[in-house]
Amino acid sequence: MKTFLQLLGFLRPFLGGIGLSVLASTATIASSIGLLGTSAFLISSAALQPSIAALQVAIVGVRFFGISRGVFRYLERLSSHSINFKLLANMRVWFYQALEPLSPARLISYQSGDLLQRAVGDIEVLENFYVRVIAPPLAAILITLGVGLLFGSWNPSLEGVLISGLLLGGIAVPIITYHMGRNPGQTLVKVRAEMSASYVETLQGLADLLAYGQETAVRQRLGNLEQKLSAAQMRLAWAGGSGNALGQMTANLTLLMVLIIAIPLVSTGKLEGVFLAVISLVVLASFEAVSPLPQAAQMLEACLASARRLFELADLEPAVKEPPKPLPAPAAGAISLRNITFRYDESLLPVLQQVDLSLPPGRKIALVGPSGAGKSTIMALLMRFWEPNSGTIVLDENDYRLYRSEDTRRIFALVSQSTYLFTATLRQNLLLAKADADEADLVRVLDQAGLQDWFRQLPGGLDTWLGERGQQMSGGERQRLAVARMLLQDAQIVLLDEPTAHLDAITERQLIETLHAVLVNRTVLWATHNLVAMDWMDEIVVLDGGQVVEHGTHDRLLQSSGLYAHLWKIQNSELIPDL
Ligand code: ADP
Repeated sequence: MKTFLQLLGFLRPFLGGIGLSVLASTATIASSIGLLGTSAFLISSAALQPSIAALQVAIVGVRFFGISRGVFRYLERLSSHSINFKLLANMRVWFYQALEPLSPARLISYQSGDLLQRAVGDIEVLENFYVRVIAPPLAAILITLGVGLLFGSWNPSLEGVLISGLLLGGIAVPIITYHMGRNPGQTLVKVRAEMSASYVETLQGLADLLAYGQETAVRQRLGNLEQKLSAAQMRLAWAGGSGNALGQMTANLTLLMVLIIAIPLVSTGKLEGVFLAVISLVVLASFEAVSPLPQAAQMLEACLASARRLFELADLEPAVKEPPKPLPAPAAGAISLRNITFRYDESLLPVLQQVDLSLPPGRKIALVGPSGAGKSTIMALLMRFWEPNSGTIVLDENDYRLYRSEDTRRIFALVSQSTYLFTATLRQNLLLAKADADEADLVRVLDQAGLQDWFRQLPGGLDTWLGERGQQMSGGERQRLAVARMLLQDAQIVLLDEPTAHLDAITERQLIETLHAVLVNRTVLWATHNLVAMDWMDEIVVLDGGQVVEHGTHDRLLQSSGLYAHLWKIQNSELIPDL
């Protein structure tokens, strides 16, 4: 019920349009009833060969209802689909806005294919919500009231039979269909999500799957999912078919009952003969109002299942809370971590313990330590993707949490180990860092990042298409492009999270030299497990097991014979004697 009410909340901005579309839908069905009723009257009366003048009203009625039915149907489709598309557009924006603050902390436990299915597939299922689930019952209520009044004016027993028939077809049959379609509807939504997740994962890792000879296993897994999907679709089709059949049967039984009552009324002269056909056809036409309801009931479950998947994500609490009254954007003089302890989850051990780190303006600090020491975690906390469990991050003398996370992120430029390049042109990938940069800026940063030779031989210059995730570029070129982006961003503090991690030794050296050249006047925090060119740094902070175990300059740390000196020795010896 809560999900249903939450979904109804999305219809609030469209109340006026909904009123119009329901009226148009009611008028369409009323016109159908009018058309069949007047036609029946016309044919029955004409059989008695009256003067043409006596038939004039009925003839005009047939014309009128014939035309009005088409016009109202058009208006109903126009208004309901307009509401529907606006509703879907609102939902897509809402869902994206809900996802944004959840990234990356809350989203890492979801598979990309599953997220894609929610954002695209589940929202698409909801296109049925207004048109198929909400509008038809409203029109059905109005029509039932209308024909009830009409029949009541003829005969109360006829009215009773028709209303009972309509209630049976409009309530009992949909309830049966709902129960028949409930499980397969939920299964369908679940299996579709599983399929989407499996397909995306399989495609992403296809090369590895082929290399390990997993073709048959993959085919089998996808085949099993396909089977589950078609079984659910089959059961849904059964439920739908049964709903239709039961609806038809109810209509015909109601007609039979009406005839059983009406025929004696004609024989006893209480009802004019010509009205027998009118009543019969009006009864059948009235069921046009309730015939979409079994499908509405079936769609309701699919819509609720999809909506639950959307709300499940949208209702998640973001890992980072925004302050109710944020301070103005920081100028970012100095930033420091004070006594920070952090764990990724309550159930996990702390990844950082009582970490202190101070980054004054213009200083270059290296964050070194073995893999898993917590270097990237510090970067993630600075970027405010997560919040520390205890301790504070102080920015310009204020607690970090007093600023909007968007404002704090803006003071950093981050180059990570694997840069994400969008499937777009070189220009679009650069403009991500600074939307209003001009051509000269873009060429300048490419030159500074050491990409001049690569850039000059590109066929389309800045408008060259970089292909899927920039896979046409080498690892070194991709990282240099990340450096160019960072330069363009012109942020006060540069965070380098192992930017050379996936590069060969020569490329690594070249990129480090480039970075040294371009970062001369910047504040830098450089995380690395590779101790190359460390004498360039003002201070080295050594992390181990989430704790700062040493800090100082390269020379002093080498003399102190601690972890840093040990790591340095290992990296600079050709043979490692103690391994
Ligand atoms: P480093 O950058 O020094 O290699 P990280 O900061 O990436 O280390 O990781 C520190 C520890 O935190 C590792 O033990 C890693 O397994 C764990 N870790 C990293 N990310 C997550 C996460 N999202 N959830 C749980 N544990 C994580």
